[in-house]
Amino acid sequence: MQIATDDVSVDQKELNPWEAQAVRFDLAAKKLNLDTGIWKVLRQPAREIIVHFPVTMDDGSIEVFTGYRVQHNVARGPAKGGLRYAPDVSLDEVRALASWMTWKCAVVNIPFGGAKGGVICDPKKMSQTELERMTRRYTAEIIEFIGPEKDVPAPDMNTNEQTMAWIMDTYSMHMRQTVTSVVTGKPVNIGGSRGRTAATGHGIAVVCDEAIAHLGMKPAETTVIVQGFGNVGSNAAKQLHARGYKVVGIAEWDGGLYNAAGIDIAALAEHKAKTGSVRNFSGAEEAVSEELLMRECDVLVPAATENVITSQNAAGVKAKILLEGANGPTTPRADEILEKNGVFVIPDILANAGGVTTSYFEWVQDRMGYFWTEAEVNERLDRIMTESFREVLRYAKEHGVNNRIAAYMLAVDRVAYTTKQRGIYA
Ligand code: GLU
Repeated sequence: MQIATDDVSVDQKELNPWEAQAVRFDLAAKKLNLDTGIWKVLRQPAREIIVHFPVTMDDGSIEVFTGYRVQHNVARGPAKGGLRYAPDVSLDEVRALASWMTWKCAVVNIPFGGAKGGVICDPKKMSQTELERMTRRYTAEIIEFIGPEKDVPAPDMNTNEQTMAWIMDTYSMHMRQTVTSVVTGKPVNIGGSRGRTAATGHGIAVVCDEAIAHLGMKPAETTVIVQGFGNVGSNAAKQLHARGYKVVGIAEWDGGLYNAAGIDIAALAEHKAKTGSVRNFSGAEEAVSEELLMRECDVLVPAATENVITSQNAAGVKAKILLEGANGPTTPRADEILEKNGVFVIPDILANAGGVTTSYFEWVQDRMGYFWTEAEVNERLDRIMTESFREVLRYAKEHGVNNRIAAYMLAVDRVAYTTKQRGIYA
């Protein structure tokens, strides 16, 4: 559903995620009257690693893959962030995602910096054994740069708890001891946290509850359309459905669904698990995904990828609340249009921070070797998400800015403060 990059009507710059990040950072830094030196420090990633590495494919041939790991900032703690597998991964995308992790961890006030990794590949065309060999070799290539106190990867697009188990095992083999806290998002029996898989969706539902209460709305009278039915989208839909919201639309990459009476999300998840797609689901009528984004609803949750709401379609968004489950789904030019139209935006670095927050809990539990119940995890997650939402709103009001710039200001302020406090080593 990504807007085609050969579409001449959409400026290349608008669709470059690193540019999109920089525009928001500059706006926030300006509002904060940020010291020029600190501005320069935070505007660049601290470290960018590029690796080209061979993998033996199932047919015996050798393929060479390109992988990235970008560590944007480590002022507040070890770098933290996911690893994605996709054919269109680029250094600028990974840079942007790494910086969003810095800001996200600071918004929810957890002791991490920001990082992101990516490998250019088409996971849909690879077997499990090829994915395993690629993951292990990528891990070996970046091994001196990751670690519980250095940089802690996690799942992102097209990676999951199995991927994390492979990374943990590869790292542990090299260290000659099991090091569970080198990654988060692991299976629960090998140091994963209860609640981690559903955590991003859970956090989305918590801030949605806060937002509708703030706007004087009630779940039962609130309609929701979710774009994406992967880990984030499906868990957000499940959580919102469970809380009494009416999830009327699901827009997936291979087709959409609409039911004005509400979709049974548990049944849809079962259907997708069985058939591999949301298509041909009997509990809703088929719809065109791009059109679903523009349909009448109260809450629109883009939970797939970047550049979904752009200058080309932002004016057509009819939702009252744009709740960003994905990283970077909205471009800066779309921000301006949404603001003019009074759309209440819950920005990605707040809305989807539930994932990394429970990753933080996983890292803590691994390091102390004592594991919490799901209820304990979720209670702590709820508290952090609620407090962060209120803090962002307070910043927006105090500084007369929109929610996104407020979230950036809060984050940049915290990272800048720590950077100054630590001082510049030389
Ligand atoms: N990939 C997720 C994100 O973008 C989670 C990162 C993490 O848990 O470290 O927030």
